[in-house]
Amino acid sequence: MSRIDLAVPDLGGFKDVPVIDVLVAAGDSIEVDAPLITLETEKASMDVPAAAAGKVLELLVKRGDKVSAGTLIARIESADPAPNIAASLPETPAAQPAAGAQSRSDSASGVAPRSAAAAGRDEPADRSTALLVLGSGPAGYTAAFRAADLGLQTTLVERWESLGGVCLNVGCIPSKALLHAAKVIEDADAMSAHGISFGAPSIDLPQLRAWKTSVVKKLTGGLKVLAKQRKVEVLQGTGRFVSAHVVEVTGASGASGATRIRFEQCIIAAGSEALRLPGLPDDPRIMDSTGALELPELAGRLLIIGGGIIGLEMACVYSALGSRVSVVELLPQLMPGCDADLVRPLEKRIRARYEQILTGTKVARIDALPEGLRVTFAGDKAPAPQVFDRALVAVGRVPNGALIGAAAAGVEVSDSGFIPVDKQLRTNVPHIFAVGDIARPPLLAHKASHEAKAAAEVAAGHKTSFDARVIPSVAYTDPEIAWVGLTEIEAQAQRVAFKKGVFPWLASGRSLSLGRDEGFTKLLFDPETHRILGGGIVGTNAGELVSEIALAIEMGADASDIGLTIHPHPTLSESVAFAADAFEGTLTDLYTPRK
Ligand code: FAD
Ligand code: NAD
Repeated sequence: MSRIDLAVPDLGGFKDVPVIDVLVAAGDSIEVDAPLITLETEKASMDVPAAAAGKVLELLVKRGDKVSAGTLIARIESADPAPNIAASLPETPAAQPAAGAQSRSDSASGVAPRSAAAAGRDEPADRSTALLVLGSGPAGYTAAFRAADLGLQTTLVERWESLGGVCLNVGCIPSKALLHAAKVIEDADAMSAHGISFGAPSIDLPQLRAWKTSVVKKLTGGLKVLAKQRKVEVLQGTGRFVSAHVVEVTGASGASGATRIRFEQCIIAAGSEALRLPGLPDDPRIMDSTGALELPELAGRLLIIGGGIIGLEMACVYSALGSRVSVVELLPQLMPGCDADLVRPLEKRIRARYEQILTGTKVARIDALPEGLRVTFAGDKAPAPQVFDRALVAVGRVPNGALIGAAAAGVEVSDSGFIPVDKQLRTNVPHIFAVGDIARPPLLAHKASHEAKAAAEVAAGHKTSFDARVIPSVAYTDPEIAWVGLTEIEAQAQRVAFKKGVFPWLASGRSLSLGRDEGFTKLLFDPETHRILGGGIVGTNAGELVSEIALAIEMGADASDIGLTIHPHPTLSESVAFAADAFEGTLTDLYTPRK
C-alpha cells in the first residue's frame, strides 16, 4: 500500500477556480478517473478525475475553496505503487479547462491531450467558428440548434444535400411511413373477417414512393428553416479533421476546392452506416436498408438477412405490399437482446405469414445468377440452397469514427469505430465532443438527440451531463415491441432480484376492440421496495405506451404509484396500470387465485 496525493491538474491558465462540488468523501473507494471535485470557471464547469485508484484517507478541499494547478485535493491509500502524479496528470490546452476525459485519454490511447488539443490553433484556415458540428442527423442538428440557442456561433457541416441524417432521410421516418402503409393494408384485410371488405389493395408504387419522399422532405425542409431562424451556418461538404482545431470540408457549397474551418469547440455527430457482409457479390439485387426503402420491386421472393429491428420492420413492409418474405437470423432468437416472451407474439404472427423464418442459420454464400440470387445457408437447421429475387442485408450498423480523420485531431477511436466519451460527451480531447451513433450504442435517434443537447450545453459552459437512467427501444413491427430499463435477460445475467407484474391484453377491452388479443404488458419491480426496474410491451402502439414506463423509472415510481394513477378507459395504457396491479395483487380485471 502506498499513500498518494491527488492534485488539481493544469487548468489551462485558469487560477483560483471555485470548487462547486466535492464528489467523494473520506472512506470512499475510488477508481481511476472517478470524478473528485467539480470546478467552475466563467467558461465551463468540469469534473477533476482521480489519477489513481484507492481509498480516500483525507479530503483536502471543500466546496467554495478556490484551487489552481497543483492544489491538493485528497490523500488516498492505494494498492498501486505511488505514481509520479505531476507527470501522469492530464495536461490541458490553453484556454480550455481540464475535463474528466483527459486522463482517460492518457490511459486509453496514448494520445497526449495537450499536444493534440493545442495543435492546429495556428493552422491556416478560411473561416472560423466558435462551434463546429460535424453531421446533421438527430445528434448533429439537435446539438447545433441547442448551442445556437445558448448563444454559440455555430457552423453545421453536412455531406448530404438535405439535413436530418440517416433518421430523417433513410431511417426512422421513411421506414415509419412505409410501416403505416403496411398497417393500413393489414388492418383493412383483417376487417374482412368482421364484415367489411375492401378487396385486394391496388398499389401504385411510384405514388407510394412519392408520398414517403414528401414526408421526408417536409421534415428535412423544416430543419433548413429552423437552422436559418437560429442563424446556424450550414455548409454542405464532407468534413475531415486536419488538426485539433481545424476541419477541412471538401465539396463545400459555393467553393471549388476545400474550405478549412477553424473551431474553438467541435461536436462530432457523423453517425453510422450499414454493415456489409463480406464476400457477397456486388449486385443491385442485394440491398441495404437505404436501397430497400426505395421499394425497387415488390414481386417475388425477398430474403432478409438479419432478424434484428431493421430486418423485421422491412419484412413487415414488404410482406404487406405483396412480397414473399423469408428471414434468416444467425442467432437462435429473432431480435436477440429483447426478452423472448416479448418476441413470441410477433414470431407467431410472422411465421404464419412469411415463407420462412430461419433462426440459428446464416448465409454462407450468394451466387448472382441471371434468374436470381442463389443463396447457400449454413447451420444445423440450414435448408438446401434457394433462389431469391432480392436480398436485404440488415446485420447491424457501424459507426463512422474511422472515416473523419479523427487521428489528426488526436481523438481516440475504438477498433469498432466508436469515439469514447465521458458523461459530458467529451472525447479524450476536451474541446471535442462526440454524440449519437458515432459515440456509443444504442444506435437510436432519441438517444442521439438527448446526448446532443447535453454536449451543446456543456460546450456553452453549462454544468450538464448525460445522465438518463434508461433509453427505450421500440420495434415498429406488427405487433410492436417496446422495452425499457431492466430486461429479464439482463436481470438474470446481472443477478438482479425482481418480481413481475403481467397483464395479458386478452383481457383488454381496447385491444379486443382493435381486433387483436396477442399483446401483453409486463413490469419488473424490486421485490423489496416495489420500485419499478423495467418493463416491456408487445402489442398495438407499444412504442407509444412504453414512454409511461420510462417516466416511471426516471421518477423512481413504485407499483402503487403506477396502479393508483387513474388511466382512461378503455385504453391500451390501462394495461400499464393493470400490470402494476397484477404485481400488487390488486388486479380485478383478471382472476389470479392466491397461492
Ligand atoms: P446519423 O443520423 O447517421 O447522421 C449522421 C450525419 O452525418 C449524416 O447526415 C451524414 O451524412 C453526416 N456525415 C457523416 N460523415 C460526415 C462527414 N465526414 N462530413 C459531413 N457530414 C458527415 N432509430 C430510432 O430511434 N427509431 C427508429 O425508428 C429508427 N429507425 C431506423 C430505420 C432504419 C432503416 C435505419 C437505418 C436506422 C433507424 N434508426 C432508428 C436509427 C437512427 O436512424 C440513428 O440512430 C440516428 O439516425 C443516429 O443519429 P446521428 O445523428 O448520430 O447519426
Ligand atoms: P441489429 O443489430 O438490430 O440486428 C442485426 C441482426 O442481424 C442481429 O439479430 C444479428 O444476430 C443478425 N446477424 C448478424 N450477422 C448475421 C448473418 N451473417 N446472418 C444472419 N443474421 C445475422 O441491426 P439492424 O437491424 O441492422 O439495425 C441497426 C441498428 O439501427 C439497430 O441496432 C438499432 O439501433 C437501429 N434501428 C432502430 C430502429 C428502431 O428503433 N425502431 C429501427 C431500425 C434500426
